[in-house]
Amino acid sequence: MKALSILGSTGSIGKQVLDVCRWNKNKLSVVGLASYNEVEDMLIQIKEFKPRMACLAIEENAEELKEKVNGMTEIVSGAKGLEEVACIEEANTVVSSVVGSVGIQATIKAIKSRKNLAIANKETLVAAGSIVMNEIKKNKVKLMPIDSEHSALFQCLTGEKLSDVKKLILTCSGGSFKGWKRAELAKVKASDALKHPTWSMGAKITIDSATLMNKGLEVIEAHWLYNMPYDKIMTVLHPQSIVHSMVEFIDGSVMAQLAVHDMRLPIQYALTYPERLPTRLESLDLTKVKNLEFGKIDSETFPCLSYAYEAGAKGGTMPAVMNAANEIAVALFLKNQIGFLDIERIVRNAMDAHKIIKRPSLEEIFEADSRARKKAEEFLVKGK
Ligand code: MG
Repeated sequence: MKALSILGSTGSIGKQVLDVCRWNKNKLSVVGLASYNEVEDMLIQIKEFKPRMACLAIEENAEELKEKVNGMTEIVSGAKGLEEVACIEEANTVVSSVVGSVGIQATIKAIKSRKNLAIANKETLVAAGSIVMNEIKKNKVKLMPIDSEHSALFQCLTGEKLSDVKKLILTCSGGSFKGWKRAELAKVKASDALKHPTWSMGAKITIDSATLMNKGLEVIEAHWLYNMPYDKIMTVLHPQSIVHSMVEFIDGSVMAQLAVHDMRLPIQYALTYPERLPTRLESLDLTKVKNLEFGKIDSETFPCLSYAYEAGAKGGTMPAVMNAANEIAVALFLKNQIGFLDIERIVRNAMDAHKIIKRPSLEEIFEADSRARKKAEEFLVKGK
């Protein structure tokens, strides 16, 4: 039996993790839940899954929840509460599906408490990849990717030697504005960007998909997960989102993983590996899909992907800075306070202003992150 602590349980991924738990009641149990401020959603989850502990980040919300739960589950709050849920004794696996670099500290604490990790929170690996991967090695815990591309890579690499890999090929749907011109992009609103053509996801990742920053974050995530240099990580446009990623080997063979686009598949694989279990998803019918198209990504119209390659190659604190500026920019765009193209400007400004620390400590990463957030917020006052 795997006992799970789920960080970010009321978000899009968190809810799908719980679906997978419902499918596999004899294999997966829930002992910890954590979320930002959703009292009602959390109450429903507590009633159904009866975890030992649950956390809401916002204290007043946690107090409100405590009254409603009436002793059924221990309720904690704040960043400390999140860490408590991540380290809860009964849990052997922590699912990290919070949004943004807020997950770093709790993830590292979970690893130090010898929990295996199933990670959907790519910002943690982007900002603190070297530290997280070191801790994973040191504490001998397992790290399973939940992101569909990285799950696909993991499946293609199973039984293979990393030294036989010529390149990793991440597929990219192109996001909500595939084929658009920059003059059109200058006018789009958050509500336009939130209509993703193939995947149904949370707001932040849907905007990241539209700017292609999501693919950039995934390139950095792949670098850390598979210890692969950036010149061996390629991206290719694939609008149908059926091929989730591919690996080319030195002999020219290309392995791909195909499936319907539903996150519950990579989630279940991450949680039950090495077992493959049936899901309730429909079979992939290629006669209905008909065409699988591949093409070049338009990185001139959408420069965030190349910013991520640049930040990854520069290394040190630069990916954390890029990520922090992007988090602020996306939040401002979602509130309609800046335009779509301002997102890339804010990221560029923060990267240009940053002096890299090559081998940063966790504290130095947090300092670089918070400076980048301040710099990003200045955009509202100073403009371009
Ligand atoms: Mg993905």
